Amino acid sequence: MSLHEEKRGEFSLKGVGASPGIAIGKACIVGQKRVKIKRKTLSENKIESEQKRFKDAVENVHAYLDSLINKMPEQIKDHAGILRSHIQLLKDKLLFDNTLNRIEKEKVNAEWALKESLQDVKVLFEQVDDSYLRERIEDVEYVVNRILAELTHSQGLALNTLKEPVVVIAHELSPADTIQLDQEKVLGFATDVGSRTSHAAILARSLGIPAVVGLEDVTDEIAQGELVILDGITGKVIADPDKDTLEKYREKQQCYLRYRLDVIHKSHLPAETLDGLRIQVKANIELLEEIPLVLSNGAEGVGLLRTEYLYLSQKGLPDEDKLFQSYRQIAEKLAPHPVTIRTLDIGGDKFVSNISLDEELNPALGLRAIRLLLREPELFRTQLRAILRASAYGNVRILFPLISGRHEILKAKEMLHRAMQELRNERLAFDPAIKVGIMIEVPTAIMVADSLAKEVDFFSLGTNDLIQYSLAIDRINEHVAHLYEPLHPGVLRMIHMAVEAAHDNRIEAAICGEMAGEPMYVPILVGLGLDEFSMNAIDIPRVKRIIRQITHEECTELAQNVLKASSSHEVREMLMNFLHDRLSSEFDPAFGLKPDFDGGKICPIS
Ligand code: PEP
Ligand code: MG
Repeated sequence: MSLHEEKRGEFSLKGVGASPGIAIGKACIVGQKRVKIKRKTLSENKIESEQKRFKDAVENVHAYLDSLINKMPEQIKDHAGILRSHIQLLKDKLLFDNTLNRIEKEKVNAEWALKESLQDVKVLFEQVDDSYLRERIEDVEYVVNRILAELTHSQGLALNTLKEPVVVIAHELSPADTIQLDQEKVLGFATDVGSRTSHAAILARSLGIPAVVGLEDVTDEIAQGELVILDGITGKVIADPDKDTLEKYREKQQCYLRYRLDVIHKSHLPAETLDGLRIQVKANIELLEEIPLVLSNGAEGVGLLRTEYLYLSQKGLPDEDKLFQSYRQIAEKLAPHPVTIRTLDIGGDKFVSNISLDEELNPALGLRAIRLLLREPELFRTQLRAILRASAYGNVRILFPLISGRHEILKAKEMLHRAMQELRNERLAFDPAIKVGIMIEVPTAIMVADSLAKEVDFFSLGTNDLIQYSLAIDRINEHVAHLYEPLHPGVLRMIHMAVEAAHDNRIEAAICGEMAGEPMYVPILVGLGLDEFSMNAIDIPRVKRIIRQITHEECTELAQNVLKASSSHEVREMLMNFLHDRLSSEFDPAFGLKPDFDGGKICPIS
């Protein structure tokens, strides 16, 4: 949402901080203008030439994208897949064939026909439930806009023609645009559209360029050449700042740079407490493209590969080979580091149109994750075979989601062993000693954790769901979001029980819920005895840095105290005292991150 704070002279716009950092410089508005498309009726003899005009425009965009792939800097070569997918989209039936047909049948100009075809695709995408996939409509829109720009000759100022360092302001930046960003010339960028998960945002984080997206009308509000401050931490863009603001942000910029340098410089150091306890810090990922960031941020592998993406991103179910190729690539890229592949966690808030699920009144408590897999053995078998085959190419572990009791593990393991036997018979390679773990995210699993631990090689605590199910708070319902309490003593006691059961049975206890990446919670989680933390890659350097500044002993003492607390409020108070005494510089507001002593969340300064 764009919030315009009225104060002419200096004024600010609020968007989404997509890549952290502060940029201060002259605004340079680039890229295509929003083109107004008008419908024109063609005479019969113009149809063929109009279709050719459209095909030529598509060919030109194709050639342009090809040339970009060839020129891609080494550092971001892994992102070439995005451009290749755009090339594929250019010839997608829904866009290409439909536009040609429309030109012929409706006797309309190419621009109009293409715009109408885009509308049809949008309608299809809107029916998709998965937010990541829904956002991929951005890719389709980008491709359409590129073709439109070709057709209307309105490419605008190109990013590779920048003469001096500037803050780039654009309606949107496509991956192709972002790939061309010259780090010497682009101090940061701000766009009208986009989200934290759009490709431009992901690329900006890989390149370390500060970015704010989703500002809605930044291209209209900011003038060419105007001085702007862009704060990628808070998502704020300030135009024409006054002297005090400028000074404040110059200071914040220096602090942030010093902080980042220090964090990045040390992100490859092991996460070891001052008294020598070594903790594994890993990343949660969904896509191959995230791996460069995972490795550069110092992850020691992937603790959670969510596998829903391939099931959500195509028509029909992915076959074994497609899954195998994808898992194999990820395993190879990460080797010798481990990758923990979680079997499909579909259902609940994540739906796939290809798997017909009955409409459920209460999907979070419905046919979800392992329950669905056990009811659909073919679906499960295909995925198990793909994971096993990938295990021959790297260090692969397997993780079953939403386990509520021992019977589910036994059934899942039986399926796994059957898949192993099949592969043996077919002489296909796999790792016979593959480690098998379960997500601990249902309260009953904690109550019987002791017997579950005897059946598996590791636990991974899914606190996102554990909190939802134990506090009876729907994790996607904003009306009860304030009741979602990671620091509830009940939640902390459950984590503690699961860890104890794991350790009593000599297996590892990991945590992969969002809680793991929250710097403020680190001392408690270390004190509760967790062996592995897995989180969004962006959070890794900071979490590791905190682990290196604390002792296991003091964290254990803190954990013992919070386990005795009777309310989240009490826990928070104990934690705040600890952070104050022991980590005050880490939560210094000067770094743009401070503990909020009321809400208990670290929030950026505004
Ligand atoms: C969790 O529940 O904490 C978890 C990591 O899994 P997801 O968020 O995918 O349900
Ligand atoms: Mg979960």
